[in-house]
Amino acid sequence: MVLRGAGIGEDICKGKLHFLREENRVSRELTDDKEKELARFEQACEETDEQLQVLAEGADGAIFEMQALLLMDERFVQGVRKTIVTDKVKAEYAVQLTGERLAKEFAALEDAYIQARSADILDVAGRLIDALCGKKSDATSAVGDVPMILVAEDMLPSRVLELSKAQITGVILRKGNALSHAAILLKGMGIPALFQVGDELTDTYEGTEVVVDCMEGMLFLAPDKELLNEVQKKQDIAAKRRQTLEAFREKKTMTKDGKHIGLYANAGSIEQVKEARDNGAEGIGLFRSEQLFLERDSAPEEEEQFRVYRQILELMEGKDVVIRTLDIGADKQVNYLELPKEENPALGLRGIRLCLEKPQLVKKQLRALYRASVFGKLHIMYPMITSVEEMIRLREIEKEVKEELSARGIPFSNKVPVGIMIEIPAAALISDELAELVDFFSVGTNDLTQYTLAMDRQNGEIADYVNPYHRAILKLLQMTVENGHKAGIPVSICGELAADRTMTETLVQLGFDKLSVPAGEVLRIRKKISTLHLFEE
Ligand code: PEP
Ligand code: MG
Repeated sequence: MVLRGAGIGEDICKGKLHFLREENRVSRELTDDKEKELARFEQACEETDEQLQVLAEGADGAIFEMQALLLMDERFVQGVRKTIVTDKVKAEYAVQLTGERLAKEFAALEDAYIQARSADILDVAGRLIDALCGKKSDATSAVGDVPMILVAEDMLPSRVLELSKAQITGVILRKGNALSHAAILLKGMGIPALFQVGDELTDTYEGTEVVVDCMEGMLFLAPDKELLNEVQKKQDIAAKRRQTLEAFREKKTMTKDGKHIGLYANAGSIEQVKEARDNGAEGIGLFRSEQLFLERDSAPEEEEQFRVYRQILELMEGKDVVIRTLDIGADKQVNYLELPKEENPALGLRGIRLCLEKPQLVKKQLRALYRASVFGKLHIMYPMITSVEEMIRLREIEKEVKEELSARGIPFSNKVPVGIMIEIPAAALISDELAELVDFFSVGTNDLTQYTLAMDRQNGEIADYVNPYHRAILKLLQMTVENGHKAGIPVSICGELAADRTMTETLVQLGFDKLSVPAGEVLRIRKKISTLHLFEE
């Protein structure tokens, strides 16, 4: 059987389907029969342990071996038992409560390895709850010696961040939208993915061998030998193509007729910064700093942020690094900020709006950024700007931060260029005024597309309507470049459109000074630019 979807990336991957357990929350149920609940818990531990032992024999067994150890962790096991006895609750609820408590404790610890174990605790607790609820085990069929391809309905960015390339070879979403942050993260992590595959892909296919062709947007279930041979051929061709790209690693980014185009990389983690550097990116054109704020119980303190920003600047060895301040909100939510629930979060307290509501948040980040500025060539960029007033307020906050640092005798660079994202139509339309207040523009076409076309980038149902080449968007791009250049500031583009090779020539002709693309796309775009002939002969 063949199903169709929207591919992210150009890879082909093979593996066995594994359906991600949707969140299985249980409610608090009381009981007087504590002996029975203790026995049920014991039984669930045994079943779960058996599942994990099977999984531990697979390709990525170490993680499951470690999860099995958690079943013997005294704090966890005694915690569940005590909750059953003292709170008189059923075993499912006791497991959920204890798992969440322990996961929180782990996440709050300094050690990154222990922090990461918090996801494992939740995973083990989820398996135990499944066992207690009599849900069929998904473990034995999913993993053997072939890699896993995860299937889910949809995925939030925080969930993507929990994935590890070492453990899975691909992701399939029944819904999802290729412009979503989850898609951008998957691309950045080099994980092939297929979105909008639809409801036909039910969990009865658990454990089925599949081939995912991201380039063609196809999912082949239980492929026959002939197809597997074809896939092998395609994979060989793709490997050759990757080899030809190697030649571009050390090259400068030049058109055929010798025009240099700035080629930068987008990143959201230290790994991606390293990948950008290794691919010869001229700098980091967008570091999505909010990724440091996701998947944790509290915002990173100034010191922790400072260390990360310093590390990025040092890794890039004097090349430009554009760090975008926190863009939380919409699909990137964090519980610790205790934000009110919004009907339309993409139109709500997001990005710079949120930061101006909570100035301490942006102040802390700016302090960390300016402190790091002496270790490289930092640029600061604000997301989701809509007005001149916001910019004036931000400039005041910057001034306060610098005065504070000076008063404390802390060194910082006074030459940090400050720019903004142009990703809301209002900003593009007043880009002449904004250009007077900043040192550079960077166009975010992902949000510019969403807000210009009034089409939610998260919504898979409308993905077919989203036209990133719409003339309205091209007009806004042109207007932004012209206004930026009139004011003498450089204009770059860091939305996904910058990595769309069918658009490279148009973007360069429009006059963009720099393109900033996912770290893994740098070589492909450099090769594309090398084929362009811009000037008439
Ligand atoms: C954009 O909107 O184009 C952009 C680069 O920012 P993000 O995708 O992080 O919203
Ligand atoms: Mg954006």
